[in-house]
Amino acid sequence: MSLLECDLIIYGSSVITQDENRSIINDGAIAVTGNKISDVGPKSEINRKWTASKTLDSGKSILMPGMINSHTHVPMTLMRGVADDLPLLTWLHDYIFPIEAGLNKELVELGAHLGCAEMIAGGTTAFLDGYMHEDAVGKAVDESGIKAVLGEGFFEFPSPFFKTAEQAWEVMEGLHERFSKHDRISISITPHAVFTTNPDQLVESMELAEKLDVPWQIHCAESIPETELTLKKFGKRPLEVLRDNGLLTARTRIHHCVDVTEQEISLLSSSGTMVSHNPQSNLKLGSGICPLTKLLDAGITVGLGTDGAASNNDLNMFEEMRTAALLQKGILQDPTAIPAQTALDLATVNSADFLGLTDTGSIKPGMKADIIAINMNKMHLKPVYNPLSHVVYCVGAQDVSLTICDGKVLYHDGKHFTVDIETVSHEAEKAVKWALSRLKNH
Ligand SMILES: [Zn+2]
Repeated sequence: MSLLECDLIIYGSSVITQDENRSIINDGAIAVTGNKISDVGPKSEINRKWTASKTLDSGKSILMPGMINSHTHVPMTLMRGVADDLPLLTWLHDYIFPIEAGLNKELVELGAHLGCAEMIAGGTTAFLDGYMHEDAVGKAVDESGIKAVLGEGFFEFPSPFFKTAEQAWEVMEGLHERFSKHDRISISITPHAVFTTNPDQLVESMELAEKLDVPWQIHCAESIPETELTLKKFGKRPLEVLRDNGLLTARTRIHHCVDVTEQEISLLSSSGTMVSHNPQSNLKLGSGICPLTKLLDAGITVGLGTDGAASNNDLNMFEEMRTAALLQKGILQDPTAIPAQTALDLATVNSADFLGLTDTGSIKPGMKADIIAINMNKMHLKPVYNPLSHVVYCVGAQDVSLTICDGKVLYHDGKHFTVDIETVSHEAEKAVKWALSRLKNH
């Protein structure tokens, strides 16, 4: 029997597939053709069937799907550590907003390059972004080889970025047009939050999301102070404002969902609204704890995200998985809450749904080749009883040895192939002076 031809075969000591049966293959291999997975199975079987122009034996390593970050503001890596240990609204109004008001495209692109590089090295192959100058983020995504759903954020008009709603919608349509044929980039409509916009704008922006057939994402129910502000402004809680304006739909993506009632959880569930869980950002900003277990029990699709590096302060999805699992065990005093498999589902298959991507998040024939390898030849990872438990409770972002996105090797053994790390790091250090000068002027 002649062998089938593919471009690349990757070998590992185990493959966590995240397929429907959540199969884990010992001594496994993945065959890749172009940007897609052709086959996955035991090494002996793949070798019997396939021949490749290139092979990558990652030795004692776990192969798994690239993780998907369902909520971030990638250029905010430039504000990593600029202000810590402050309440959400003080942090936003006294530090983040004044710096952001002075951002230009070059700085946004720089921050995006830094963030994309961090995610690639840490085993993340896709993310949902929300920021300004998203065309500059798109440029960094295009060049770095990662994939993203971009979201041009907007606040009440006029804002430093848009004088009128028409202007904002035009920019979003332009962004959609520009990336509509891109293999790795798409867009979403991205109002900042209920309390920083108004219902008419929200409704209009949802109409635009429907017209373009893209997701509609918003920060919502992030903290009690946000609820209080929204009550003061509209006489309703944030999710009630969305409900009353017909904005809870299968297209809706909610970030945070911390201050949420039982009735609101039912509303999210019955409307098909999806939620992004961001435990480290919520903890660091003292916003509270999302009732993740209740959301999942209600049948809501929940993805996992880091939020921006100004409130996390990194884009490390391994830490995020572990925090999500440990938090629920702790607050519920139940060690069976959010088992390792559920935590990994949040970061892979669920986040793929959240981004509206149907061809990533698992290792199966036909899916995009978004694959990472974790080097298990490390003292802190010995011995291995259960690869799945290791990935959630033991592995760190620094243990990622290989990142492949759309069939292309972006990172291998500490080396980036698409990002000039030295230049990006140097420029990021230089941006510190600029950011601090914005605060002095404030
Ligand atoms: Zn956010």
